[in-house]
Parts: sequence; C-alpha cells; structure tokens
Amino acid sequence: MIKKKNLIFLGAPGAGKGTLAQILCENEKLAHISTGDILRGEIAKGSELGLKAKHYVTTGGLVPDEIVAEMVARRLAEADCQDGFVLDGFPRTIPQAKLLENALANISKKIDSVVYFHAEEELLIKRLTARLTCKKCGTNFNKIYSPPLKENICDRCGGELYQRPDDSLETAQSRLKLYKEQTAPLIPYYKERKLLLQLDASLSKDKSYPALVKLLS
Ligand code: ADP
Ligand code: ZN
Repeated sequence: MIKKKNLIFLGAPGAGKGTLAQILCENEKLAHISTGDILRGEIAKGSELGLKAKHYVTTGGLVPDEIVAEMVARRLAEADCQDGFVLDGFPRTIPQAKLLENALANISKKIDSVVYFHAEEELLIKRLTARLTCKKCGTNFNKIYSPPLKENICDRCGGELYQRPDDSLETAQSRLKLYKEQTAPLIPYYKERKLLLQLDASLSKDKSYPALVKLLS
C-alpha cells in the first residue's frame, strides 16, 4: 500500500505518465485526473469547453490556464477524489500550479508528492510518434514498445486504436519545445517545496511501476 495519495505526475509528453497513472489508480483506488483525456472527451462531445479547447489541443498548444484550472478544481471536489488522486498533465505551467494551490486550499487538501518522470528527448519522440491511443478508454499502446495483442484493437476494452493528431512528428516536436519552456520550470518549483520525487521514465512499465510504488511507499 502506498502512503502518498494526493499526487502530481510531471514530465514531458511521452514520458509514460498516463500509462503508469492508469495502473496505479486501478490498483490503489485513486482517481485518475488526466486533463488531456478530459479535454479530448469534451471535444468529442462538442461541449462549450470542447469548442474552446479544440484548436489548442489539435495543434499541440496549451489550453489557457484559467480554463484547465477551473476544470480540475471542479473534478477535485467530486466524491471519488476524496481518498486520493493522480493529476496527470496538470499543472503544466507555474500559473496553473498556483491556481491549483488555491483550489486545494479551498477544499482543505494538499499535494503529498510530485513524481517527475525523467527521460531523454530522443526516446520521447520515438514513443510519441509510435503511440496508439484507444478511442473509447484512452489507454495507450505503442507500435514498437508495447503493441496491442490484436492489431488496432484495445486489449482493455476492445475499442478502436488511432494515432492522435498531436502525435505526428511535427506536433510532437513542438509539444516538447513547449514542455521545456512552460512546464520544466515546475521541476525546481516543486523541488524547492520538497515535494519532488524522480522516476527513471526510460524503463519499460514492468520495471518503472514497481519503482514508482517504492517511491510512494
Ligand atoms: P501528453 O501527456 O502526451 O502531453 P495530454 O493528453 O496530457 O498529452 O494532453 C494533450 C493536449 O491537451 C495538450 O497538448 C494540450 O493542448 C492540452 N492540455 C492538457 N493538459 C493541459 C494543461 N494542464 N494545460 C493546458 N493544456 C493542456
Ligand atoms: Zn480501450
């Protein structure tokens, strides 16, 4: 059983945050809050939020801070978050981290740890451009590293797999650039606050998952 339960997963796109978040949340009964998944869901529904977010998400830009922060604040107040949660893909900027702090203070909560997924850029690009995502449940596969058992079919729910438009080489590169400029400053930010734990994200998930559990125990 892990001791740290209110978590942020921080790291570049392709570092494996979503994959490990899904496994950890299933095993430890935590709420998995992926801002990318929520935004893609809203876009698919054609909601007002989805319409606002669509342009940013498909071109690999960042949705404005206030919009995502509001979305996360609402999600954190839901019942399934009360025994712990993993924020996957949020915060992505320093202003988002500050908005999160306020939102958590309002519901008398705090972050226990921030797990920083560390990997080299070359590997990230390889993973992103070979990534396949389930249309139905959002589970990620990889054409090279972790292919599905049946071609283009999700092992978990039978849904159809597709390449996210923002996983093309060009967009993946611009997302990484944005990560370095906007998100990487959160590493020293959380280090100063003594919340940062580092995980070697270049390992396969069979090795990185036990390492993650050890970090959080
Ligand atoms: P990855 O983990 O591969 O970077 P995500 O699924 O987390 O991808 O996010 C996909 C897209 O959704 C981002 O490129 C961005 O446009 C938008 N998005 C997700 N989270 C945030 C956030 N915290 N702030 C702004 N935009 C976000
Ligand atoms: Zn699926």
